[in-house]
Amino acid sequence: MYSHHDEAHYVTRTGWLRAAVMGANDGIVSTASIIIGVAAAGTGQSEILLAGLAGLIAGAMSMAAGEYVSVSSQSDSERADLARESRELQKNPDAELAELAKIYEMRGLTSELARDVAVQLTEHDALEAHARDEMGITDLSKARPVQAALASAATFSIGGALPLMAVIFAPLTSIIWVTTVISILVLGLLGSLSAKAGGAPLFRAIARVTLWGAAAMAATALVGRIFGTIVG
Ligand SMILES: [Zn+2]
Repeated sequence: MYSHHDEAHYVTRTGWLRAAVMGANDGIVSTASIIIGVAAAGTGQSEILLAGLAGLIAGAMSMAAGEYVSVSSQSDSERADLARESRELQKNPDAELAELAKIYEMRGLTSELARDVAVQLTEHDALEAHARDEMGITDLSKARPVQAALASAATFSIGGALPLMAVIFAPLTSIIWVTTVISILVLGLLGSLSAKAGGAPLFRAIARVTLWGAAAMAATALVGRIFGTIVG
C-alpha cells in the first residue's frame, strides 16, 4: 500500500523535474558549444559573448515553440477524446455505466461493489470518472501548452546563462577551459539530481550526461579551430 503511493508520487515529481533538468542541460550544452566553437576560432571576447547570447535566445525560442506545438497537439487529442466520451455518455448511458463498472471490477472490486462505485461516480460526475479511470486524464496530467513552453524556455535560459557568465568573467585566454569545466561540472550535478529524484542509478546518469556534453563541446571546438584557420 505504502510503496504504491510512493511510486505514484515519484512519477509526478520526476515529470516536471526531468523536464526542467532537460531544458537546463540543453541550454548549457548548446550555449557552451557555441562559445567554445567561436572562441576556438580565435575571436575576441565581445564576439564570443554576442554569439553565445544569440545562441541562447535562439535556443530558448526554439525550445518554447517546439514544446508548445507538441503539448498543444497532446491537448487537442485529449479534448477530442473528452468530447467523444461526453457524446457517448449521452447516447449510451447504460453501456458507459457497464464499461465503468467493468474497469473497477478488473482493478479488483467485486462486481456488486464495482457496480455501486460506478453508479455513484456517474451520479457525481460521469465525464470526470470516465476521463480519469478509462482514459487516464486527470487535472494533474492535463496538457498545458503555454506553461510547458514558458518552463522549457526559462530552464534553457538558466542553463545557457551559466557558460555566458564564464565569458564575462574569465580572461580571454582561458574562456574555453573555464566554460568546459563549469559546464561539465554542472551537467554532472544536474544528472545526479535527476537520477536521485527518479531513483535511477547515479553513476550511469552522470556519465551519460557529461560524456554527451563533452562530445558536443569537443566537436564545436574542432570545427571552430578549423574554420578559424581557414577564415582567419
Ligand atoms: Zn467511457
